[in-house]
Amino acid sequence: MRYLILSDIHANIDAFEAVLAHAEGRWDRVLVLGDLVGYGAEPNLVVDRVKALNPDAVIRGNHDKAACGIDDGSQFNHVARMAAMWTGGQLTPENHAYLRALPMGPWQIDALAEICHGAPFDEDHYIFDGNDANMALHAAERPLCLYGHTHLPAIFKIVGRDMASFEGDAPDPDKDVVVPLQRDTQYLINVGAVGQPRDGDPRAGYGVLDDEAREVRLFRVRYPVEKAQQKIVAAGLPASLANRLAVGR
Ligand code: ZN
Repeated sequence: MRYLILSDIHANIDAFEAVLAHAEGRWDRVLVLGDLVGYGAEPNLVVDRVKALNPDAVIRGNHDKAACGIDDGSQFNHVARMAAMWTGGQLTPENHAYLRALPMGPWQIDALAEICHGAPFDEDHYIFDGNDANMALHAAERPLCLYGHTHLPAIFKIVGRDMASFEGDAPDPDKDVVVPLQRDTQYLINVGAVGQPRDGDPRAGYGVLDDEAREVRLFRVRYPVEKAQQKIVAAGLPASLANRLAVGR
């Protein structure tokens, strides 16, 4: 089975559509790792598009919780909170209810993989460094844990549960990255953000897990950033949310 891995779409329909076009023919099922909305200007189009994909699993992110009132956004910075309030006001009743009903991660997919938004031990925790990754790898219940939340593509692994061979890596942005899944190794992989990359590369990020070939592929896709920016400005959202898309920060 080939799973399309989508995380942090953030109401960016232009990036989302470009990813889906690029990914055509590469997947059989869909997994969504949270933050469907927040920051971007098209929350309803994105939620509708996710629903239409009929994913095997969709888990909630912190921005989904804030937009539908599960969380008050008090942990957010000013701009993120403004965007969450704006998003909450835009959502149709159906999409509001859909986000509200999303389960929290981690979510077990099969014997090989699980997904979470932040970390397997805390859906809101950011995995930035080796310490975070170490905790996450020990909390994970499957050989492969896919996560999001940081908007930074990354690959961490432990060989034979030996932390001495721990490796963390940012994949090469200029190449499609293939990660073969060895049997004695545990993996923690972020395929990057569809809708708001933060690694300095503005292209949308996504991944495909092939559990028969035992590999994860990471892709980057160009999309019309200006279109997403214009919609953010036209919606009256903070200009910084438009500007950051051009630089991928
Ligand atoms: Zn996010």
